Amino acid sequence: MADLKLTDIKKAYGNVTILHGVDLAITDGEFVVFVGPSGCGKSTLLRIIAGLEQVSGGDIRIDGQSVTNVPASDRGLAMVFQSYALYPHMSVYKNMAFALENMGLGRSEVDKRVRRAADMLQLTAYLDRKPRALSGGQRQRVAIGRAIVRDPKIFLFDEPLSNLDAELRVATRKELAALHAEIGGTMIYVTHDQVEAMTLADRIVVLRAGVIEQVGTPLEVYNHP
Ligand code: ADP
Ligand code: ADP
Repeated sequence: MADLKLTDIKKAYGNVTILHGVDLAITDGEFVVFVGPSGCGKSTLLRIIAGLEQVSGGDIRIDGQSVTNVPASDRGLAMVFQSYALYPHMSVYKNMAFALENMGLGRSEVDKRVRRAADMLQLTAYLDRKPRALSGGQRQRVAIGRAIVRDPKIFLFDEPLSNLDAELRVATRKELAALHAEIGGTMIYVTHDQVEAMTLADRIVVLRAGVIEQVGTPLEVYNHP
């Protein structure tokens, strides 16, 4: 768990400015959802926090330490994408275990973490399957499991439910809410779905054309003109 502070984050591609100076403080354990029209910079901001994009200006701090120039792998974050990006030739178990093995964790620690995540996400019966033998919802849960096993300080989600059909989207959304209640990490979540934002967020950040337009609780953002 960790807090995050963004100060005057700017991002330009060539002479096109995408983010015009974003200031935001997120506290330990908070569930924050970024919303806003397509192209307003939500994904770019998330990728900047993740370290997958460099900033053009500004500073990112995690627990008070600047990580602006720290590579993605050393920021203590885990990201879940819209497309599951699972390794097709590896079992569910191995998909979750792989990064941990590469980090040099011992076999029993890896096994403990994978089994705990699988249990939380109702994947225990599917550990030996390949991704192609899973439903879309199960695949997305494996992608979430891969983030959980890393025991990250901050979870980043980029439209994780948007490839699921309506029923699975609701079920997986409820699992995410339960997960946050259970493990309590700091979570930052990008969506264009108002229902997801309202049901998941402690706080909603509304972006428009690369600036923060509004920050508030779901009630403040959606029940006031
Ligand atoms: P959102 O997630 O809110 O839909 P994005 O952050 O994906 O928006 O994109 C914001 C803007 O930045 C869009 O206009 C997009 O075309 C532009 N953009 C994103 N990535 C790049 C890139 N690698 N090069 C140039 N422009 C980009
Ligand atoms: P590969 O075929 O590439 O070796 P596997 O999926 O067989 O990948 O698994 C590799 C590692 O993960 C092995 O150490 C194996 O013991 C472990 N493993 C895979 N599935 C399970 C499982 N269901 N329970 C415990 N360990 C597993």
